[in-house]
Amino acid sequence: MSDQPVIIPRSDHPISRKWISQNAIRVLYRLKESGHLAYLVGGGVRDLLLGREPKDFDIATDAKPNEIKKIFRNCRLIGRRFRLAHIHFHDEIIEVATFRSNITEEESAVETAVKVEAQASASTQAAPRTETAMPDAVLREPTISSASSAVQGSVPPERPRPPRMLKTDDGMILRDNVFGTPEQDAIRRDFTVNALFYGIADYSVIDYVGGMEDLRKGLIRIIGDPVVRFTEDPVRMVRAVRFAAVLGFEIEAKTYKALLEHKDKIALASPARMYEEVQKLFLLGEGEKTYQMLRNTGMFGVLFPHINAWIDTEEEGYPHIWVGKALDWVDTCVLAGRKVQPHILFCLMFGQYVEMKTAKLRSGGMAPLDALDMAVAEFLAEIVPRVQVPRKVALAIRDILWNQGRLEKTQGKAPLYFLRRPGFADAFEYLRFTSELTGERLELRAWWKEFIRSHPVVPGEAAPTPEKKTGSQARRPDGRRRRPRRRGPKPQAPKP
Ligand code: ATP
Ligand code: MG
Repeated sequence: MSDQPVIIPRSDHPISRKWISQNAIRVLYRLKESGHLAYLVGGGVRDLLLGREPKDFDIATDAKPNEIKKIFRNCRLIGRRFRLAHIHFHDEIIEVATFRSNITEEESAVETAVKVEAQASASTQAAPRTETAMPDAVLREPTISSASSAVQGSVPPERPRPPRMLKTDDGMILRDNVFGTPEQDAIRRDFTVNALFYGIADYSVIDYVGGMEDLRKGLIRIIGDPVVRFTEDPVRMVRAVRFAAVLGFEIEAKTYKALLEHKDKIALASPARMYEEVQKLFLLGEGEKTYQMLRNTGMFGVLFPHINAWIDTEEEGYPHIWVGKALDWVDTCVLAGRKVQPHILFCLMFGQYVEMKTAKLRSGGMAPLDALDMAVAEFLAEIVPRVQVPRKVALAIRDILWNQGRLEKTQGKAPLYFLRRPGFADAFEYLRFTSELTGERLELRAWWKEFIRSHPVVPGEAAPTPEKKTGSQARRPDGRRRRPRRRGPKPQAPKP
């Protein structure tokens, strides 16, 4: 990797400050005025160069977290794995990170020694030159023994600090909080197209890793050795697929080969982090394409082994088609600007799997509600070791499936009462999807569509009187009673 970045001046790239959030611009200027380097980084730069609207604007700087905190009153430091500054504005949070490096302290010590040696020999041969910026981590703190010997034991021995960079023996990163130079910060990023910097000082784009060329070619290429980088953080494999699907890019050949060979390591990633990633995989408008790529690479099977095994039992393409159609449906909603909640996503994708489990339990003689409760509990137990779906999402799926029965009741006061309940919109969404896909219950769907149309919500209308608790509201899948839900998934307005 060359030491010299390619600098693309303002006249040669399309990024205009108009397209950047005004809050991000303010933060960039404030950092600059305080004497710091300040760059817009990551997906924001990538998306602006592609003419896409960025999801968020991240900033990198040479200011340390506590320095950032001093510059911004509206700043909060967050993060245990690494410290980040969140600058709070009334409608937006701008994330500011200090330049980091992903080289270990041993590596950086070796690198320092090499640099120092090179500088020493250069200085004997030539006139003194200005010092290159040295990351904090390479300015090593005195060891306990050297510190105590220096002051003859007058200072109590320091407690050894936890290492800022920690990897497992296999090379997976457990902690990386080593500050670095801008170049190190670029090369520790995941893909070349995600490592471009936009500088506020002269509005140029700075490219240390060949990201501009890969943007032009439409390639997702990991920075550095793909095997090392995927081992360091297996979530990068999932991100590769997401970016390829969302941007319509190809995964570069070596990156793709490593991904196929090392996909099983995804099982080592944190399930909580994977839950966040899975939502991004399927809720950004290209879920169906992402799903096909995950299936083709075998990654879907690593993420969801039980569901994958069920999909593999396909007859005439089902249930594979079901999951694909569910994601098509979600993509259509997302592209139309409708927010799809995670419980709807998972219910559409995996509702049939839970229903299949319920049917099996019922055929063994179990009561309908008990069977559903047990099926949902089994589903949750299967999924959480890899993707930590929260219990409240599982409960919401269970309510949607239970409420399918309530949708059948079209006589008397029941329909009006149910229409006004918070669970109605989700249940009706599931009916709309399943009837569309299977061609079943089309008449029921049409009946509800008409009923919704003829019973608009009147402002100020009295809330329906509480009904007797049904089994569905009183008990949870594990049999315990449920506390009243304070913050459940928000109901969406029913769309006929
Ligand atoms: P999105 O449009 O989804 O926000 P993004 O590229 O901005 O995409 P983020 O998750 O917001 O993705 O991360 C911001 C940047 O941080 C990335 O562009 C990348 O440079 C870096 N990054 C994020 N995750 C990793 C990772 N696992 N390994 C290395 N670098 C990462
Ligand atoms: Mg981002």
